[in-house]
Formats: sequence, structure tokens, C-alpha cells
Amino acid sequence: MSNVLVIGAGVAGLSAAEYLTAAGHEVAVVDKAARPGGRCATRRTDVDPAAPWFDYGAQYFTARSDLFRRSIQADLEAGRLANWQPSINIAEKTDTTWLFSPSPDERERLIGPRGLNRWVRDRFEQLPVDVQCERRVNALRGDAKQWTARFDQGGPIQATHILLTIPAVQAKALLGPAARRIAALGNTPNIMSACHTLVVEAPAIDGVEAVFFKDGALSWAADNTHKGGDTRSPHLWTLNADASYSDKHVESSAEELADTLIDDFVQATATPREQVRLVRGHRWRYARPGPAAPDADDRFWVDRQKRLALAGDWLAGGRIEGAWLSGRGAAARLIGDV
Ligand SMILES: Cc1cc2nc3c(=O)[nH]c(=O)nc-3n(C[C@H](O)[C@H](O)[C@H](O)COP(=O)(O)OP(=O)(O)OC[C@H]3O[C@@H](n4cnc5c(N)ncnc54)[C@H](O)[C@@H]3O)c2cc1C
Repeated sequence: MSNVLVIGAGVAGLSAAEYLTAAGHEVAVVDKAARPGGRCATRRTDVDPAAPWFDYGAQYFTARSDLFRRSIQADLEAGRLANWQPSINIAEKTDTTWLFSPSPDERERLIGPRGLNRWVRDRFEQLPVDVQCERRVNALRGDAKQWTARFDQGGPIQATHILLTIPAVQAKALLGPAARRIAALGNTPNIMSACHTLVVEAPAIDGVEAVFFKDGALSWAADNTHKGGDTRSPHLWTLNADASYSDKHVESSAEELADTLIDDFVQATATPREQVRLVRGHRWRYARPGPAAPDADDRFWVDRQKRLALAGDWLAGGRIEGAWLSGRGAAARLIGDV
């Protein structure tokens, strides 16, 4: 049996760890963050466990493949996931005003009833795996027999196999010269696009629970309070900037861009500006696959001889389902199951 170090405890790291432990391999998972989840990121407005929560990374996900759908069935039955059926609108800007029309898609959208971060963490907790957080890998060296990962804090970890699920730019930096022969890492600066995210308190809007923006600086706004089934007022809205806008302003913080993003939200939804209060801003430097992302069909990259694999949404067309399929596929190929 192999001993595998999975770097990154997001959805790709989760599915890799699930596959490898089910196949009887020894697995360690490390993440630089304080808790697992990666871009499935949820916070509360304060430390009180009853305080309203909001997702400020991924908002919901879809499950289109049979494999992924089967993997979440138990979560749906146990209430760790739920269906979310918001009334979604499309906002378009004309010369003088914003026009709203209902979004025609009737896609099934899944959410975590306590946020998506809780869903990822619940699944990690079901595994016989020690997930070590606040462990940032800063160097990775391999020889004919094993890999050694070194960290900002704590001793090194050795493993026969390495599975990296971190964004492309960070994977390239860690692999150093070895990254040169990995075609998928070729165009790293543009493999991922950024996203500035704001969470604001604002009133509920009659008949509008989420908005796809076709114009302006925003791409999406969602009423988190509606997602959580909470009736408290005011509501918490998550606003995501458009990828091209965020890429252009990638060196600015979310707070620095807040006025522009909030202006688009209040103008499009006719919400009085004085009723909108910024709760949190976050810049995701590597949010979603960008213009130079590899072909989504690749899904993962594995060198069986070097006992090295790369996975993550950036190799699989983005999204939670892509990340999950990527991690699982990479794990299976790495240990020679496919
Ligand atoms: C604002 C936003 C909105 C989104 N909305 C949606 C949505 O509605 N639906 C959807 O399906 N998807 C959405 N996504 C995309 C979705 O979040 C991702 O596709 C998915 O979570 C990626 O999972 P991953 O495991 O590939 O990467 P990540 O979740 O990024 O996990 C990588 C992990 O690696 C860790 N790491 C990085 N470097 C190191 C290091 N050196 N050492 C140790 N650990 C390290 C990180 O801390 C992180 O936890 C959204 C993303 C963002 C940012």
C-alpha cells in the first residue's frame, strides 16, 4: 500500500482522500488555512454560534455526473446538503437604467444548510485521516523513493506519493524546475482569474433572491439569509465581482473596490444606498479558471513514475463538481487503479 500526502484540504483534496482511504492507502492531508474547505468558505457575523452565517466563496453547486451525484446522496438524505430554489434574475444595463428579467434556467442548486464549509468539514470528519491545518508547504523535494514536504511550522512529512490540489501558480512555485515539463502549468499567470467578494447587510428584495449581472463590475449577488432559511432582517447579501473586472484590479483589496461594487448593486436593485452596510470584503486571487486554464477534459495530471499528481478545479473546468472529479480521478490514476 502507498503512503500519500495530499496537499490542500478543499473539495479536490477531500475526494482524493476519500478515494485513497477507501482503497486502503495511508493518507495525510495538510492545508495552510486554519480549517479545511478551501474556497468553500463560510463565516458568521460574530463569534456567537447562533449569529447569521454567510458563504463568501462558493455559493452553491450542481451535480451533473452520476459519480458525483451518488457521492452526495447520503449528504442530501442526512440534511448536510439541501436544495436551494431561489428566484434568480438577470440584470442588464441600458443607457439609463437596469433591466431585470427572470433567469430561464431551472438547474438544481445544492447548498450547505449551515454553509458549504461545514459540508466539506463534515465529510473530512468521516474519514480515518488526520487533517493538519495551519501547515503551509514551502518546499517539496522528491527522489527515487520518496518525497519530503517542508512547512513554515512543524517538522517535515515524508511520503512515497504526492497529490497537490493547490492552485496552479502555487503548485508551479512549489515544484520549481520540475514544473517546466508539466504543460498544464505553462501559462500560470492567467490560469486562474481573481474575484473580489463583498458581504453586505441590505434589505430583502421582493422576488429577487439572486442576480446574474450581465453588465458592470458585478457578476453575481445572492441573498444568503434566504439560503439559510433565516427570517432575520436586514439580510446578508454576497456580491461577487466580474472576473475581468477583478483581474484588472487584482492588486486592490475588496474594501478598496467596495464603493463601485455596492453602487452597481444599489442601482440595479433600486436599494437605498444608506441601507447597505459592508460586513466583510475578501479578495480571492485565484478564484476560478481563467483565460489560460487547461482544457477541462484533462481533469488532472499524473506522473506515475515520479509518484506525483496535480488536481483541482483549475484542471477540470472550475466549480465544486469539477474539483471533486479532479481529485478523485488523480488519486485513482496515481495509485494505478485506472
Ligand atoms: C467567490 C467564489 C465563488 C464561487 N462560486 C461557486 C459556485 O457557486 N459554485 C461552484 O461550483 N463553484 C464556485 N466556486 C469555485 C469553487 O469554490 C471551487 O471550484 C472549488 O472550491 C475548488 O476546490 P479545490 O479543492 O480545487 O481548491 P481549493 O478549495 O482552493 O483548495 C485548495 C487548498 O489548498 C490550500 N493550499 C494552498 N497552498 C497551500 C500550501 N502551500 N500548503 C498547504 N495548503 C495549501 C488552500 O488553503 C486550500 O484550502 C467559487 C469560487 C469563488 C472564489
